[in-house]
Amino acid sequence: MKMSPKYNPYENMLSVVSNAADILGYVPSDYEAIKYPERELKVAVPVRMDDGSVRVFEGFRVQHSTSRGPAKGGIRYHQNVDLDEVKALAAWMTFKCAVVNIPYGGGKGGIICDPTKLSESELRSLTRRFTAMIAPIIGPDQDIPAPDVGTNANVMGWIMDTYSMLKGHCVPGVVTGKPIALGGALGRNEATGRGVMITTLNILKAHAFSPENSTVAIQGMGNVGSVSAKLLYEQGLKVAAVSDVSGALYDPDGLDIPSILEYLSQKRGNLLEGYDAGNAKWITNAELLELPVDVLIPAALENQINASNADKIQAKIIVEAANGPTTIDADKILDKRGIVIVPDILSNAGGVVVSYFEWVQNIQSISWSEEHVNEQLKDIMDQAFQSVWDIAKDKDVSLRTGAYLIAVKRVVDAKNMRGIWP
Ligand code: GLU
Repeated sequence: MKMSPKYNPYENMLSVVSNAADILGYVPSDYEAIKYPERELKVAVPVRMDDGSVRVFEGFRVQHSTSRGPAKGGIRYHQNVDLDEVKALAAWMTFKCAVVNIPYGGGKGGIICDPTKLSESELRSLTRRFTAMIAPIIGPDQDIPAPDVGTNANVMGWIMDTYSMLKGHCVPGVVTGKPIALGGALGRNEATGRGVMITTLNILKAHAFSPENSTVAIQGMGNVGSVSAKLLYEQGLKVAAVSDVSGALYDPDGLDIPSILEYLSQKRGNLLEGYDAGNAKWITNAELLELPVDVLIPAALENQINASNADKIQAKIIVEAANGPTTIDADKILDKRGIVIVPDILSNAGGVVVSYFEWVQNIQSISWSEEHVNEQLKDIMDQAFQSVWDIAKDKDVSLRTGAYLIAVKRVVDAKNMRGIWP
């Protein structure tokens, strides 16, 4: 879906944060500083393309906050990346790490490019040069990148190698989401989707819905969407619809998720188009969002549920697997209509939680079993869900406001305890 021209994700984030800060009783000077990213770096990244030409790509790394620990957050490769988006994504990381109580601030990076149109060697050159240009501000104690939309474990491996070459020794803790052979954590690749699955089961239980009788529609079949589809299917939910940029598949009786995932894994470019739909119907991404399902999981980009479609959403529950999929206007409409939203900073935190486990293992030069990773992840996700649920009930606010009440308090209190230096 196209971004509406007026939408500014950073302003969206600010209004949610200010609302929480007001409810918490902070005066504006208490939280003035968290309205601004601490540091923004913009770089021009030259790449020698395979045909011998030179192209310059624009890239960013933004550190929103380091009050609770080093900045932490992914790097996005996408043609629509812009500074306001990266700033918002960095701030969301600050509050995400705070709501699950891991010792990080928030950061994010991005490069304006279409990675599907670059060869592997172009992608590697782009990644290495970008890493060199942000190297002065990243590091295991400073700012730790990770995968996001359009990047993966291979890209993280190149970042780790480039940074290590510059330092003259191996520094695995500079980046998370690495290949296992380079110090990646078992379970990291599935972690965000696993967190979404855990959160979906938690919210269904809170509303006394049984997984077996619940239907779900998932927008986006990237890492997060496809793992969520797989794990929810394994938990017995009917996954009635899935989509990617090539279109959406819908079967009210439930799709054959293993066969769809098998098809995607064998296909170059990983697109759904061409899949033999059988009883399922091809629909558009816009139609998927408006299906009569129990749970809607937007797992693609920001601004998908906005003022133009919020009154047409028929799902009872929305579990935000993407960052910022619902605008603030849509939030108000959905709230009035009694549709429950589990906010992104809670439901998609599984990725950064296991990134934290990866970093801890790297620093200590130890490795955890996948079982241990998954158990610890479940503990953290369950606890965070319960605290958000409890505060939302106690204060009679939405789950999003509840999550921000917890997160903003942790960030503002840490900042104020440290004080302003000098
Ligand atoms: N990009 C992911 C997110 O938005 C993961 C970040 C990380 O692991 O640092 O949460």
